[in-house]
Amino acid sequence: MAEKGTISIHTENIFPIIKKFLYSDHEIFLRELVSNAVDASQKIKQLASLGEYSGELGDLTVEVSFDEKKKTITISDNGIGMTEEEIKKYINQIAFSGATEFVEKYKDKADNQQIIGHFGLGFYSAFMVAKKVEINTLSHQEGAESAKWICTGETDFEIKKGTRKKRGTDIILHIADDSEEFLNEHRLQGILDKYSKFLPIPIKFGQKEEQVEDGKDKDDKPKYKTVKKDNIINDTDPIWTKSPSELKDQDYLDFYKTLYPFSDDPLFWIHLNVDYPFNLTGVLYFPKLKKDFDLQKNKIQLYSRQVFITDEVKDIVPEFLQLLHGVIDSPDIPLNVSRSYLQSDSNVKKINGYITKKVADKLAELFKNDRKGYEEKWEDIGVFVKYGMISEEKFDEKAKDLALVKNMDGKHFTIEEYKKHIEANQTNKDKNVVALYTTNKDKQHGYIDTAKKRSYDVIELTGPIDPHFINHLEQKHEKFQLQRVDADVIDKLIDKDEKKESVLSEKEQESLKEVFEKAINNKNNSVAVQPMATDDMPVTITLPEFMRRMKDMQATGGG
Ligand code: ADP
Ligand code: MG
Repeated sequence: MAEKGTISIHTENIFPIIKKFLYSDHEIFLRELVSNAVDASQKIKQLASLGEYSGELGDLTVEVSFDEKKKTITISDNGIGMTEEEIKKYINQIAFSGATEFVEKYKDKADNQQIIGHFGLGFYSAFMVAKKVEINTLSHQEGAESAKWICTGETDFEIKKGTRKKRGTDIILHIADDSEEFLNEHRLQGILDKYSKFLPIPIKFGQKEEQVEDGKDKDDKPKYKTVKKDNIINDTDPIWTKSPSELKDQDYLDFYKTLYPFSDDPLFWIHLNVDYPFNLTGVLYFPKLKKDFDLQKNKIQLYSRQVFITDEVKDIVPEFLQLLHGVIDSPDIPLNVSRSYLQSDSNVKKINGYITKKVADKLAELFKNDRKGYEEKWEDIGVFVKYGMISEEKFDEKAKDLALVKNMDGKHFTIEEYKKHIEANQTNKDKNVVALYTTNKDKQHGYIDTAKKRSYDVIELTGPIDPHFINHLEQKHEKFQLQRVDADVIDKLIDKDEKKESVLSEKEQESLKEVFEKAINNKNNSVAVQPMATDDMPVTITLPEFMRRMKDMQATGGG
């Protein structure tokens, strides 16, 4: 006989596991509790807008405060509050999410993009830092009575009459001895800045001093006085939540400055905004690259409903775009319970593809509408474009006509334009179009001059990614070769049918060869005597293109 049953869980065993292992980082307790307070405030706003709450909304500012002496941290909101029954339902049942229930209940009536909670576990993160947690709350419901819940991190709790007179909730954490680092203004401000800087409800943390003008002195110079103001830590409507049509360039630049206060202005940006088949908003900036090629990854911040999640975006942003800056916000990015990690799923792939496409479209638009501006920015954006072309087939398809090369006259060409530009003069006897490039115009100037004497064109490919880019171009373009200008004597690099006669007899050539072989005295080098135009360099030392390229690629650590 088969027997069926229900698996039971002993809360006293599971509790320590939640506390210890669910969240990798203790500081996120504040993210979770502030998010709950914001949710409670959003809910009362929604109920009011649906006509289900007719009282005054009042000031919905959430307040975070701490008391060093009492060793408490308090998070207070003027949101919907909870009745005793609701505490029992939402708080005492671990992994039952009141947020999800609320979203379900109103899903047809209201836009529920706003509610953050999801897993029904965030509240318990309080016990990572607190030895005792109190909830003091007054529900918005008419005639509700204040309720108080006290729990010391064991599975027992106490519930009794509360003392809150105004609608809303105080969460009071009695900080554990090993977590006293959190009873510190800078630490708390830092955590709030990191996770809650763009939440949609104002969050107050203490006060700050500000200088304000206070009339004029007798010389008619403005006088200042110091006043104390509420320290609101967040920007409640960051630009990515707005429509691009409401925004001016300056708004994007200002926002960039708040994200990266010490950076140069970005080159341009892309406003991401999609609601099907997934929700995603954000702004990606192309930074101005520093000359020392200081490429920093992990500058893009990932948010979910305006809550900071991580700056590890490697799964959702293609590798070559991880050098961009900015923010991405998506409630549809599948996060695990602790929200610290992405879970692989098909949305992630789609998001990745969407971002790639958006970036390619933006580049194409710049190229089309402002070719000159595009060329001016090429030095900075070239790295992204080339890296993207090499590493992402999809991007290469879209960007292949957006890659530029610059010749020694400072003129820019697309690859197709360039092939056209040189094909008449630089086609070899095998009908290959041969582009000559230099990696260092000072060191290779003798070779460049020789090429110029043949009216050949030389382009500059001096960046660390260029050796790989050259290979890529040769793979993608038939009958197109790139030769470093010093890879061989010029008439070998672009070997035409017409042959020059040497002024030396064969015997003279032989003895000249011997002289040089002796002088070089190295069996690994070979010496060739070839006719050249009379005003060329009389002796040329070269290294074959494939060996050059191996060296160049090794130098950039790529393959
Ligand atoms: P989640 O937010 O994922 O639903 P939590 O464990 O963070 O789960 O919170 C559980 C539930 O407790 C919430 O969904 C909400 O119903 C209730 N709750 C928590 N904090 C508050 C608060 N400050 N005001 C009102 N209700 C709250
Ligand atoms: Mg929550």
